[in-house]
Amino acid sequence: MSAHLAERPQTLRSADAQIVDAVVVGAGLGGIYQLYRLLQDGLKVRTFEAADGIGGVWYWNRYPGARVDSHFPFYQYWFSKELWDEGAWSERFPGQPEIERYLNHVVDKYDLRRHISLGTRVTAATYNEETGTWSVSTDKGGVVRARFVVFNTGGLSEPMVPPFPGHELFAGESYHTSRWPKAATDFSGKRVGVFGTGATGIQVIQTLAPIVAHLTVFQRTPQYAIAIRNPQIDKQDLARMRTSFEGLREKVHKSRGGFVYDSPSPPRFEDVPPDQREQRLESIWSDGNLRLWSESFADSGVNAEAAAFVSEFVRKKIRARIRDARVAAKLVPTDYYFGSRRVPLENGFYESFNRENVELVDLREEPVTSIDATGINTGTRHHDLDTIIYATGFDAGVGSINKIDIRGIGGASLRSLWQTSLSTTVGMQVHGFPNLFMTMAPFAPAAAICNVPVCVDQQCNWIADTIGFVREKGLKSIQPSAETEAAWMAHHNAVSEPTLLGQNRNSWYRRKGPDGASRELLAYMGGIPTYRAACEKMRSSGYEGFEFS
Ligand code: NAP
Repeated sequence: MSAHLAERPQTLRSADAQIVDAVVVGAGLGGIYQLYRLLQDGLKVRTFEAADGIGGVWYWNRYPGARVDSHFPFYQYWFSKELWDEGAWSERFPGQPEIERYLNHVVDKYDLRRHISLGTRVTAATYNEETGTWSVSTDKGGVVRARFVVFNTGGLSEPMVPPFPGHELFAGESYHTSRWPKAATDFSGKRVGVFGTGATGIQVIQTLAPIVAHLTVFQRTPQYAIAIRNPQIDKQDLARMRTSFEGLREKVHKSRGGFVYDSPSPPRFEDVPPDQREQRLESIWSDGNLRLWSESFADSGVNAEAAAFVSEFVRKKIRARIRDARVAAKLVPTDYYFGSRRVPLENGFYESFNRENVELVDLREEPVTSIDATGINTGTRHHDLDTIIYATGFDAGVGSINKIDIRGIGGASLRSLWQTSLSTTVGMQVHGFPNLFMTMAPFAPAAAICNVPVCVDQQCNWIADTIGFVREKGLKSIQPSAETEAAWMAHHNAVSEPTLLGQNRNSWYRRKGPDGASRELLAYMGGIPTYRAACEKMRSSGYEGFEFS
């Protein structure tokens, strides 16, 4: 018996099962659109959402300073001109409350709420080969039977909390940024410690630094962050947005990262005269968005010389903002290239370290030894704290799916299978698990290199089209063949691993094994147009390379 068959499936009370056409798991950005699209296609659908509210990451991540790094008007749905016209965005980079309101508006506008069971966590899904259906159980004790199940559970949903010795002894308050309480939190006068300087930690740190009595930042890896430009959105901006929908929608779906910039395609590094390179980067930098990541030079993701040039440009920007050269040396990355990990935006993050009440602890010099009732011990020091904030990220790509006991053909456990061999077909299906679909999962561009609303639009549509195909043909099930999956994985490895993103092994872009060692590069790096073409070829060929029953 193989390892992934060894775990015992949960017992299902299938006699009580409700029957629908599809179960959607998750009511975040992906799940909401998936539900909408499947309802439009005439399916009976039930959505389960573990949270008590709509929004997925925009429900959970309500930490101080939370806002999106995708600039206006690209972080919104692309399926409806009417919805687009109603967009009432107030900032170029909207904050969490505005996005949460927007997603609730979408749910109400399309009358989706009655199809969603909030506060209900899916715990198991088991495939029945005879009937070609899934039995989906929840923590509320019910079972729903559906031909199709779609996991729109998000690639960055399952929080990671480092197992520091003694963390349970801490007598103050502890928070993980992605499980932030809804009740107001007041940090004024508090001594606060923050673990993590990723996109989340940066936002927390720059927001709390002026408020708290003392802030201790525990940093493991320094970041190359870009200074954000975040003006208010005015009536003219909104009017321009409304006239640009069709044109932008077409372009954004063909774009490199789900954004459209009003600029010609970037040149290769060697095609820009040396004395003009810095000037080019200055002009892109002044945009104050993620453009420097994707458009510095056409080859900056694969050409080490280009990447080194851009990295040094950003290092200079960082150094110029920090008064103490010793602190600057800790905040400036030197052992990886700009862009080889997720690039965050910041707004006063670096200046925070010029403040008297902010202290940087470099965990590479003095690692955490333990946590006790009054604070954190590093090296030979003790840091007295009232509050610890964990901005320590996620079990990326697989965490939210692995939490569920998923059983495919022959009772095989997806969790166990992925433990030994993580693979998907275009990040949306897995061989051995017919009629099961997922978005923001490994080996697709997903959140790593794509503006999420654009990527989920394409993925949810592909999934709905595939489900439509099965229904129209009167089939029971669809799954990729083992060969199709192996071919996709070989292609993924061939195009993704050689990139500079692949060289940096220490970020959530790579899965961490149980031993902490980094494994596969989760993000597909062949480019969004190539990815979309591969998905479209599957669809237009009538799913050549897939197996049906
Ligand atoms: P993250 O990028 O994975 O960062 C986690 C941070 O915690 C890193 O600094 C990491 O250090 C640190 N850390 C992890 N384990 C640690 C340990 N044992 N000891 C000390 N430090 C530890 O997570 P995130 O900041 O939550 O962001 C995840 C992703 O969510 C982002 O990349 C982005 O895609 C998305 N996000 C977007 C926005 C936005 O759009 N504005 C905001 C937040 C998040 P190492 O780097 O050394 O591992």
